[in-house]
Amino acid sequence: MNDYFHDQNDSLPRSRAAALQNDSRYYYTGKLCKRGHRDARLTSNGTCLGCTKSEFRLDSKTAMVLQRHLEPLRTRIAQLELQVYNLNKKLHACGIR
Ligand SMILES: [Zn+2]
Repeated sequence: MNDYFHDQNDSLPRSRAAALQNDSRYYYTGKLCKRGHRDARLTSNGTCLGCTKSEFRLDSKTAMVLQRHLEPLRTRIAQLELQVYNLNKKLHACGIR
């Protein structure tokens, strides 16, 4: 080991190949990922843990925004369904199918 790696991830394998050999779930290269995290990476797909976390945050935030948009639409759909129901009832009352 050289002095370059002084980190909490110090005990992890230094490359994906080494992680696969050691059957380790994570590895740590000490290099920045494409989004600028210096984090351990998942051996299974090479994704940096920082990216995994921020994607998760983005997902739950997006879900909240979507839910906020969805709620009034659901109400609107219920109103329109009621209108369709009432109009159909009127048409049937006039004998039109
Ligand atoms: Zn990252």
